[in-house]
Amino acid sequence: MLTLLTIALAVALGVVVWIWLTRERQLENRLRQSQLELAEVKAARNLALVEEQDKQQTVFNSMVEGLLILDENGQVQFSNPTLGTLFDLHGDIRGKTLLEALRHHELKAVAERSLVEGRVTDFELTLSGRETRVLEVNAASFRDRDRAHAGTILVFHDLTRIKQLENVRKEFVANVSHELRTPLSLIKGYVETLIDGAKDDPAIALRFLQTIEKHADRLSFLIEDLLTISQLESGQIVLNQQPLELGEQVDQVIRDLHARAAERSITLVNEVSTGLLVNADGDRFQQVLFNLVDNAVKYGRQGGSVRLGARRMDGDRVEGWVADDGPGIPAEASERVFERFFRVDRARSRDAGGTGLGLSIVKHIVQSHGGEVRLQSEPGKGCTFFYTLPARN
Ligand code: ADP
Repeated sequence: MLTLLTIALAVALGVVVWIWLTRERQLENRLRQSQLELAEVKAARNLALVEEQDKQQTVFNSMVEGLLILDENGQVQFSNPTLGTLFDLHGDIRGKTLLEALRHHELKAVAERSLVEGRVTDFELTLSGRETRVLEVNAASFRDRDRAHAGTILVFHDLTRIKQLENVRKEFVANVSHELRTPLSLIKGYVETLIDGAKDDPAIALRFLQTIEKHADRLSFLIEDLLTISQLESGQIVLNQQPLELGEQVDQVIRDLHARAAERSITLVNEVSTGLLVNADGDRFQQVLFNLVDNAVKYGRQGGSVRLGARRMDGDRVEGWVADDGPGIPAEASERVFERFFRVDRARSRDAGGTGLGLSIVKHIVQSHGGEVRLQSEPGKGCTFFYTLPARN
């Protein structure tokens, strides 16, 4: 009986121990499983974080704006490559203060203002170096969960090109206003003198009216040239390129300007050999030749000659030229004559009805055909204007 009871107790104890051990093992397994899952979650989260950071880094690195992040102590935590280019930075700036890193007191003031105001927008910073740069700076300070200051972010946008274009536009508008105002005020002056009595003397009245007509013509040439320039610059003109016989084109312009050349006893000579073909827009090319020959007649030597020639060059191009034997253009002005409104002799140009736009139209048209223009001149020995155009076989 006792033995039986002992056996039963031992079996029961064994079962209890077995159950306990099994549970323990299960618990251990579950714990290990949970730890494993936790580790997996952590690893996944880390991976996501790394991926997120990589993504951010790629975005920051490819930004056209310069980016600078300061930590809560005002030390550089991050900067992107564009910032380095804008400020010509060499080496690592991490850990430096804003002033140490970029050496601009105005920027330090911007960062400090953003601490007080939360953000500073559209601050313009001018950097004077090898070339002046204008940057737009936007700064914002950010806070952590407890609303404590956590850092400042500064974004730099390069406005240099926009500012340059703005200056070109302002200069152009000022030039155009001046060019329009001059003939208009002359016309007004002559009209007032006529009204005040000059009209009663037929000889004076005729002279004044002729002068008025000359200035009115100048105004309309100017407006025409301005329209051409604006069409060329906005790319509105579609070139209708086709094979043109260069010699025939030259003959055409000589016919058009023959009378004007005769007034100054200038001979126009076509020296282009027959059969030379260019691939160009007929109307636009006529305008190129007209402007060059018209200038040669206006500024060339009275009783002199203007020669138009051309030759086939390597690389499927044709080089043409218009040469006069006039006073020429000084070397320092030879590049500038192609600029809008540039004149070597202002009074002479005005007297000849010039708009100051002829050569810049020539340059535009030739360039839109893929060609180039240049001037060769020696004062006292005349000018030769060269242009290149695509050849046609
Ligand atoms: P403009 O309407 O004044 O002639 P252009 O753009 O055609 O304007 O020419 C610019 C300037 O270049 C002229 O004002 C003139 O001073 C100079 N120029 C152009 N062609 C000649 C030339 N063949 N000989 C001397 N000077 C010239």
